[in-house]
Amino acid sequence: MLAPQIIRELKKIVGEKNVLTSPEDLIAYSYDATFLEHRPDAVVLPGSTEEVSEVMKVAYREGLPVIPRGMGSGLAGGSIPFSGGVVLALTRMNRILEIDEENMTAWVEAGIITAEFQAEVEKRGLFYPPDPSSHKYSTIGGNVACNAGGPRCLKYGVTGDYVLGMKVVLADGRILKTGGKVIKNVTGYNLSHLFIGTEGTLGVITEVLLKLISKPRYVSTAFAVFPNLEDAGRAVHRILLAGITPASIELMDQTTIGTVEEYLHLGLPTWAEAILILEADGNQEEAVLREIEAIARICRENGAVEVKVARDEAERNSLWKARRSVSPSLARRAPNKLGEDITVPRSRIPEAVRRIREISQKYGLPVVVFGHAGDGNLHPNILFDKRRPEDMEKVEKIAGEIFKMAVEMGGVLSGEHGVGILKQPYLEMAVGPVAVEIMKAIKQALDPKGILNPGKVVPLGVSWRGE
Ligand SMILES: Cc1cc2nc3c(=O)[nH]c(=O)nc-3n(C[C@H](O)[C@H](O)[C@H](O)COP(=O)(O)OP(=O)(O)OC[C@H]3O[C@@H](n4cnc5c(N)ncnc54)[C@H](O)[C@@H]3O)c2cc1C
Repeated sequence: MLAPQIIRELKKIVGEKNVLTSPEDLIAYSYDATFLEHRPDAVVLPGSTEEVSEVMKVAYREGLPVIPRGMGSGLAGGSIPFSGGVVLALTRMNRILEIDEENMTAWVEAGIITAEFQAEVEKRGLFYPPDPSSHKYSTIGGNVACNAGGPRCLKYGVTGDYVLGMKVVLADGRILKTGGKVIKNVTGYNLSHLFIGTEGTLGVITEVLLKLISKPRYVSTAFAVFPNLEDAGRAVHRILLAGITPASIELMDQTTIGTVEEYLHLGLPTWAEAILILEADGNQEEAVLREIEAIARICRENGAVEVKVARDEAERNSLWKARRSVSPSLARRAPNKLGEDITVPRSRIPEAVRRIREISQKYGLPVVVFGHAGDGNLHPNILFDKRRPEDMEKVEKIAGEIFKMAVEMGGVLSGEHGVGILKQPYLEMAVGPVAVEIMKAIKQALDPKGILNPGKVVPLGVSWRGE
């Protein structure tokens, strides 16, 4: 519980109705898209960078934990306030401050929903490519804080590749402005990049300057069915080797195909070991069509028994339907899921999928694997029932084995969801003790009282088990 005088101070800064303390409100801000939860002492909804700065000054003086939050769609427990304190929800700060068409940049407030921003720039023929599947319910600030990616990242890169600058409020309330509307910038350390992917542990991102590109005018989609997983892996390699960079190459493994089919009855080949969904895009229709035909041919030459190329937008949507339905279909199979996010070198995807299947069989819990085959980013989703203690024990063991496997293969713990609190116990195994020391030193320099999102990413003794 916060002292009444602190609540009064916070209300004075952001307005009476923008400080929430009722049990219902605290519950609403106590969880993200994982199975974890913990209530804050208060929720504060600031309306400007200056208000965030004033809130941080109070928090710094009081040593009060502050947990920045966008839409709470995170998959690593990153926005959950395990040490209590204030959840600072940025969703009122949702304005586009400027779209500069000539310099192809946009200044936005951190709380804007990603898809809403994308729709606005696309009206002007411009394009903001990073496309986390959660784009309709995540914020640009959350995307920058997690360095989010999505299917289009193979060709276009991740959120961090589009950040030219930002405004960040530091732990003590100082406002830092980084970067600018320039393509090249080597003026000192790249402080914008320092904050990308730090998951709210180093500062509160309040505004972001984003790079835009022109919107590709044509897009074409193919859907390829592979009886053998290794063939799918080889097809991906051969496509890239042929000088083609598809906008996306999405993979569904056999367990995923079966789960979606059980849910939607689309007539998916449940006997197949893999489905690839591949997309080509560009500004010249003929070139895009040539590319998708080459992609289809390479898939056939490398073991695909069925390849469909969409002839129009309706067919394109229907080819994507299976992939888009993966998340909702999982809910039918089990009450809970842990959506993991490893990345392995692309060549080792088939081996990774097979080893995950073995781990799943060893513990007797289903693990569906789908993800971005083009960039090696796999999402093994462990399905379980959190009311069963034996399931919870198995989930932790399965996740641990999957992380160990990824690191052994030369991969990483996360390609897009971040470390948060769930992957923190594995951080040192993945990056080594020196990297952890450096992360701790940076955290100490920017947040000496440890009030910004305590216990996330950098080990500081806060655990989700309340130990
Ligand atoms: C169905 C589903 C699909 C998803 N698909 C993808 C995907 O394809 N790719 C992908 O990358 N992710 C995906 N995610 C994960 C999630 O949507 C992303 O991590 C997203 O970037 C989180 O944004 P958010 O606004 O919801 O942030 P939150 O969940 O609110 O916060 C996430 C982290 O960022 C910090 N944070 C949030 N806002 C700020 C800020 N303004 N300043 C400082 N720190 C901040 C929080 O403290 C927390 O640590 C998916 C999630 C779901 C549920």
